[in-house]
Amino acid sequence: MEQYLTVVQEGDANGNGMLLRLDFPSGLVIHALPTPNEYGGEWDLGPTWNYLVEGDRPFLVDTGRWGTGGALMKMIVQLGPGRSPEFVVLSHGHEDHDGGLAEVTAQTGAEVRAHAAYCLLARPYPGLAPQEYKRDFPAKCWHCFMPESFYGPNCLGYHRELQDRLVREVGDGRQSLGTDLESRHVPGHCPDSLAVEAGDEAVLVGDTILPDITPWPTGRFMYKLTAPVLGERYPEAGQLYGLPRYLRSLKELRELGQARPGLAVLPAHRLYYQGRFNFLDLAGRVDELLKHHVERCADLLRILKDSPKNAEALARAHFEDAKLSGPGMNMAKNEVVCHCELLMDAGDVVRNADRLWEATGSGNFERFIQEI
Ligand SMILES: [Zn+2]
Ligand SMILES: [Zn+2]
Repeated sequence: MEQYLTVVQEGDANGNGMLLRLDFPSGLVIHALPTPNEYGGEWDLGPTWNYLVEGDRPFLVDTGRWGTGGALMKMIVQLGPGRSPEFVVLSHGHEDHDGGLAEVTAQTGAEVRAHAAYCLLARPYPGLAPQEYKRDFPAKCWHCFMPESFYGPNCLGYHRELQDRLVREVGDGRQSLGTDLESRHVPGHCPDSLAVEAGDEAVLVGDTILPDITPWPTGRFMYKLTAPVLGERYPEAGQLYGLPRYLRSLKELRELGQARPGLAVLPAHRLYYQGRFNFLDLAGRVDELLKHHVERCADLLRILKDSPKNAEALARAHFEDAKLSGPGMNMAKNEVVCHCELLMDAGDVVRNADRLWEATGSGNFERFIQEI
């Protein structure tokens, strides 16, 4: 995709402040607009890359994290007249993607479109919330384990702003967004994840595929909390959640990459990072991610062959200590449980009477992953 790229404005080493323009042979123009994404912790995804697609009608994919919608709008104004987005498509419901929504829609009047699961999960249901303090939290945040020191400054205002927002539902599978523009439901990283395909020229993959980073899947165990909200439409956890569902989405994208080898892949983080562009080969990157998950399953199963363990003990044995400080432990446990769910599907582990993960002695997971 290098040949289509113009750096309109230089930014810092991680892409903050940069403005990029992609001119494709069909005449399609996509602007890449990074918004800052810093939480003050050690973990750095880099800015959120939002994209303005100049289709039949200009539309925006994502709006950055809470508090950055204004900065995003300034960039769009800087691009010149006629670029105001008529609608916004959300790649998924994480706060670093829909956080700027209120500011963007206040300035543009743009319609908001998101997957059906987003429409259901982005609302609070006070009577169903799992804890008293989450009564006003949208259902998508019910599973969140961050302490008040985090959600106080980062999330409460965000929840207030996005409550009762009207969102037009995008259905499962592939849906038209204009001529040669389609959304595709790719659940796994998040139950409402969408990719946006622009003909045979580009695919916007949100957080489903990233350079450098292996995106984390959302575990099937999280479905239990949201089942009262999602159950009528999605009666099974595996339709929206879990590592197997994520891997299936990856494989669908790999097929797309194989069918269209020159496809420009536009991720929502790290398009540019540490002084360099990350140009991805879609099929090749999917293969790397699949390999990563096979290896992680293999290592977890090896650890479980010593003795049955709970998620925390598994996380301690599998990850380096540095990854387990602060919220790292909860993230590591999520990761471990997602893989154990898959190993259980493959018949390689069971949950024993003490609720510990226990190896069965088989090693079917690799074939299981191949057959997903
Ligand atoms: Zn995300
Ligand atoms: Zn993200």
